[in-house]
Amino acid sequence: MNPWIAKAVVLAGTLAMLAIRAPHGRRSRSVKVVTSHKTPLETGILVLAWVGFVMPLVWLVSPVLSFAEYPLRIGPLVAGVICFVIGLWLFYRSHADLGTNWSITLEVREQHRLITQGVYRRIRHPMYSALVLYGVGHALVIPNWVAGPSNLVAFTILFGLRVRAEEQMMADQFGDEYTAYTARTKRLVPGVW
Ligand code: SAH
Repeated sequence: MNPWIAKAVVLAGTLAMLAIRAPHGRRSRSVKVVTSHKTPLETGILVLAWVGFVMPLVWLVSPVLSFAEYPLRIGPLVAGVICFVIGLWLFYRSHADLGTNWSITLEVREQHRLITQGVYRRIRHPMYSALVLYGVGHALVIPNWVAGPSNLVAFTILFGLRVRAEEQMMADQFGDEYTAYTARTKRLVPGVW
């Protein structure tokens, strides 16, 4: 199959992701941060996440990764598009439910509320579930061993290094309310984990 189909899908997915985040990002940044847990490790993992995000765009616009190319097949392409669609929907919903409590890093904002409704009702990290789906979508859609898995690998490392610190920060901020929320929810997949 023509890899331009995959390129069109990746471009559309990237633009959709940026369009979803932009207004929420602007709104959140207008609310003051009262506690920041942005450690040097957090800065490092954010840089890594950017590298993972940019690699598919490098593949999109330049031939430097052509040494790692393999043929595009219809099955993985369709499965990848499904992951993209569900992932982007969940990304949109989690931003809408989290509102101005969102941060790109570990921060508590003024009048921070614990969100336990909407897509946060059964899982604690729906935005991260969305980013896993988005990463799996890239791995399936991009017929390239470097650019394909880059998002998923970077995000898996980010998640592994961040999730405990994030939950500790939320527990410190919200105490028993967060402990009870943790007890009735899973991290990424409803009813599973
Ligand atoms: N881990 C969440 C949120 C990612 S954004 C998810 O995957 O959906 C990261 C910021 O969200 C953190 O700095 C924290 O302040 C905030 N946050 C995380 N869970 C929250 C919740 N249930 N309610 C309110 N804010 C939350």
